[in-house]
Amino acid sequence: MDVHLDQLTMQFNDTTAVDSITTTIKDGELVSLLGPSGCGKSTTLMLLSGLYKPTAGDIYFGDEKVTTMDAEKRGIGMVFQNYALYPHLSVLKNIMFPLKMQKVPKKEAIQQVMEMAKLVQIDHLLDRKPAQLSGGQQQRVAIARALVKKPKLLLLDEPLSNLDARLRLEMREEIRRIQQEVGITAVFVTHDQEEALSISDRVMLMNNGVLQQENAPQQMYRKPENIFAASFLGNPPINFLTLHKTENNTYVIQGSSQTLELPSMKWQTHEAFQMGLRPEDLYTVPEEEGLFSGEIIHMETIGRDTLIRLQLGDVTVRALVDPKSRLRVGDRCSLAIEPQEVHYFDPKTGERLR
Ligand code: ATP
Repeated sequence: MDVHLDQLTMQFNDTTAVDSITTTIKDGELVSLLGPSGCGKSTTLMLLSGLYKPTAGDIYFGDEKVTTMDAEKRGIGMVFQNYALYPHLSVLKNIMFPLKMQKVPKKEAIQQVMEMAKLVQIDHLLDRKPAQLSGGQQQRVAIARALVKKPKLLLLDEPLSNLDARLRLEMREEIRRIQQEVGITAVFVTHDQEEALSISDRVMLMNNGVLQQENAPQQMYRKPENIFAASFLGNPPINFLTLHKTENNTYVIQGSSQTLELPSMKWQTHEAFQMGLRPEDLYTVPEEEGLFSGEIIHMETIGRDTLIRLQLGDVTVRALVDPKSRLRVGDRCSLAIEPQEVHYFDPKTGERLR
């Protein structure tokens, strides 16, 4: 089922938590709502669920307008960060609960529970109580319970936040597998960019209630539409250098005396712009081939990567370099980047220049 948001808005007193969002989530798609704390992700999810009613705009499930429809009539499955299982009920009874509410005959209900338990791989744990399960297993039960009544839309609110790093990785692969096997349309809320980029067909990036950009993960990462999107995605984060025009079509790096020569492009009529350079796109070169040079002031090895920080006057730049390089703190180092990997932004509007 397609889900369509039409200028969806939610105002709480003087806070616009969701600011005129228009988008379509396609049937069978998993879309992540990504953004910093307070950007409006949870409110958007609550509006989809029907637990909140918007102050303006509409929501459509397929062709049906559901804007004012009550939550229980919407046919939605929800999974929360804290699992929200009933502690006194067994796994079997937890999963069966929604069917009991719908008065599904017991035999049929048990059959549907078994099917779901198999799908989420907890069919060997049906007699246990939630307290006797690991966090990952509890989340599997919560997913089974959300899916057992065959909802049209699955909403997941930071479902992996309470799990340790390894389980988080395992469970995010599991959520994706289950979602694809069932073929259900799903909306997944997270503030973790890596999670959003890895699990989704499409990422909706929000800030201050406003939809900043929506794209397939790699597209968003490779072509951020504004400074916010560029800086929110990427770890270690993207570097920004502010460039000012000098005579002879060269540019000087703000905070440093170094000048750069950039290939001539139509937007070079701009007096100043922001240049975004991802640490993994920079590489070390001999001084005469470098875009800029500086002293290495910090170095650390993170797994298979070595991260260096270069001082250019008052500004610093991070780059991921070959761990086999013999660079040391205190060395001078020059960095280069392929021209097509450089992101240019208007410093006033924050928008990407093209
Ligand atoms: P987090 O990741 O911290 O959960 P979020 O992106 O989910 O954040 P929301 O919870 O949707 O953000 O909140 C968006 C904005 O709306 C925030 O400024 C928040 O303070 C405000 N807000 C949310 N719920 C209410 C409410 N019931 N009453 C008043 N303001 C609210």
